[in-house]
Amino acid sequence: MFNSFDVLAERQLSGGTLTREDARAILGSDDGALMDLVAAAARLRRAHFGNTVKANYLVNLKSGLCPEDCTYCSQRLGSAAEILKYTWLKPHEAAEQAASGIRAGASRVCLVASGKGPTNRDVDRVATMVAGLKEEHPHVEVCACLGILKEGQADKLKAAGVDAYNHNLNTSESNYADICTTHEYADRVRTVTAAKDAGLSPCSGLIVGMGETDEELIDAVFALRDLGSDSIPVNFLMPFDGTPLEGTWLLTPAHCLRILALVRFACPDTELRMAGGREMHLRSLQPLALHVANSLFLGDYLTSEGQATKADLDMISDAGFTVLAPAGAAPVAADAVGADTVAAHACAADACCSADDGGSSAVEPASAVEPASPVELAIRRRGAGTALAPNA
Ligand code: SF4
Repeated sequence: MFNSFDVLAERQLSGGTLTREDARAILGSDDGALMDLVAAAARLRRAHFGNTVKANYLVNLKSGLCPEDCTYCSQRLGSAAEILKYTWLKPHEAAEQAASGIRAGASRVCLVASGKGPTNRDVDRVATMVAGLKEEHPHVEVCACLGILKEGQADKLKAAGVDAYNHNLNTSESNYADICTTHEYADRVRTVTAAKDAGLSPCSGLIVGMGETDEELIDAVFALRDLGSDSIPVNFLMPFDGTPLEGTWLLTPAHCLRILALVRFACPDTELRMAGGREMHLRSLQPLALHVANSLFLGDYLTSEGQATKADLDMISDAGFTVLAPAGAAPVAADAVGADTVAAHACAADACCSADDGGSSAVEPASAVEPASPVELAIRRRGAGTALAPNA
């Protein structure tokens, strides 16, 4: 057991493996230790990613109309959430949406479609879109998120030029049946493994705030570590009205930081993305979260609105970070994304963080997590599937 978060950071920088006891101590630490925790996690973040923030951009290719029953999802079977519903975007529509995000500074475009998994025709459709995107933006990474993959589909996507595949584990194996009955945790593990085996960069993460226990959350984080996910998006539950988790507000901003720190300590050199729901759950602590996470989504989410892109770019700049340019690309013109927000790459030399030891004395007793107050959740009414300009 470590006696300060700084000592734990030292251990992880030397290649240590986070134990369950360490993880419990992180999640159970109190608000008085929060800055020490963030400072220690920031050492790992800077060691591996310098001062860069990776910006990702979502394009919802097909919205709603899903036959699956994931409790957290506004697109689920029987959802009464008043979201946009539309079938596949045309390739030029997808390209226009993606271009908006790329202009805003995104180095990865995530092409997402609702549903249990793609047909072979769907895979061909996405392959056509990817070919067009890669021709226009050769340095931009493309991630596909199309659900459970069948035999051969990961290879097809790889051959089409897709760089990464997202399929979140979302929660622990033991908790999975509580959040979905139409597919299993094992289906998700199989798809992430198939993507990885096909040479796609595996992206798999979490949704927190669904009522999971600390032990279940630790199980899920350790499962992602074992799976070798290259990027871990942490979503904070957005409890849409009209879904089974409507009214579920279980997170506080401070606890969201503890969760991000847990993932950072468990997987120090993995891209950690503060994803959906960050605005309403981290609230005014978002800039602090940038010292732990090194990645975010710009713009809107699949069915809800994110904060204005300019506000994100200002936040990144104000906190002393820069937006990562696509690998192999010249840095994006600063005026394309707002002054001083773009850097070429994470620099190992720049990575040397001298976070002070903060004098943290061991881990304090666990603090109770008081539920956050509900906030308004804005359904997306612009961008993909509408005639209105996207948030980018
Ligand atoms: S998470 Fe995916 S599979 Fe589950 S209901 Fe939503 S769109 Fe369907």
